[in-house]
Amino acid sequence: MKTEKSGQVLRLVMVLVGILLLSRIANCHGSFRDSNASQPGTPAVTTSNLAMDPDDNQKNPLNHDIRLDPINCELPPISLDSPGQLQFVNATVTCLRGAWLRALRDAHAFKPSLTTTDQEVTVYTVDTTRKSCGENTTAPTDAPLYCGGRQKILWPSKYAEFQNLRGQRLHGDMLFSVMHEYGHHVQFMTGVQAQADRMFGLWNEESSLGQQIHRRIELQAQCLAGVAMAAAVQGGTVGREEAEDVVDAQQYVIEEPIHGSRAANLHWSRAGYDSGSAAACNTWAADPADVQ
Ligand SMILES: [Zn+2]
Repeated sequence: MKTEKSGQVLRLVMVLVGILLLSRIANCHGSFRDSNASQPGTPAVTTSNLAMDPDDNQKNPLNHDIRLDPINCELPPISLDSPGQLQFVNATVTCLRGAWLRALRDAHAFKPSLTTTDQEVTVYTVDTTRKSCGENTTAPTDAPLYCGGRQKILWPSKYAEFQNLRGQRLHGDMLFSVMHEYGHHVQFMTGVQAQADRMFGLWNEESSLGQQIHRRIELQAQCLAGVAMAAAVQGGTVGREEAEDVVDAQQYVIEEPIHGSRAANLHWSRAGYDSGSAAACNTWAADPADVQ
């Protein structure tokens, strides 16, 4: 009796040790641990769940071969004052809107909850040094900003001055910047942003993993800007040489943790521009080394 009981206890201990070992092996396989993010109670962070929810990713039609019809827009000349810039940015948004909405509608790529009001985006000019998407977000920066969930593009009134570019360089730069911000709007309309927000619910935005998620968002927007730029060349809105210049200039961005390296910015902008397809912009399935 005594021996049988000891045997049962031994078997139980062995089963428990086995479970413990298996869970350790499972954790080690392909894991990408982030010291800031791994707090007790938070799920294990792995490269596989980092690539978004694989199921959602497969179902996400933005990763499919979506191409824009050639974009042919008459854009006003850029004047450096705030109303002049606003006019140019609004005209570009209107132009992009037509091409993207048509392509996304044809590809059935809108997230199911999207209303026609949600499809709209409004541009505001704001003072350069301080701007806000809402009560909780205030970022001192001179760069344009897309306010996710509020469908707003905030455009710094002194952007053109800040960029210190003139003529064709300024035209191309502003065009690409609007295309990038509209790329964020595309992420919003297709549900990519909502998926990223869910990931931020699991992992701290400030952690190195959170910053990597940010980079996947930003680099995808760069790539979508490249897709739009290719369509603008096809439609004659912008000359090929000017477009190539601005795409190549993405290697001179200021490197920071949430926007990525110069090499990554060039790589993803080129991927969108060279292919002309949103399918080339799936930063979510990319190796972490490609979104540095
Ligand atoms: Zn951005």
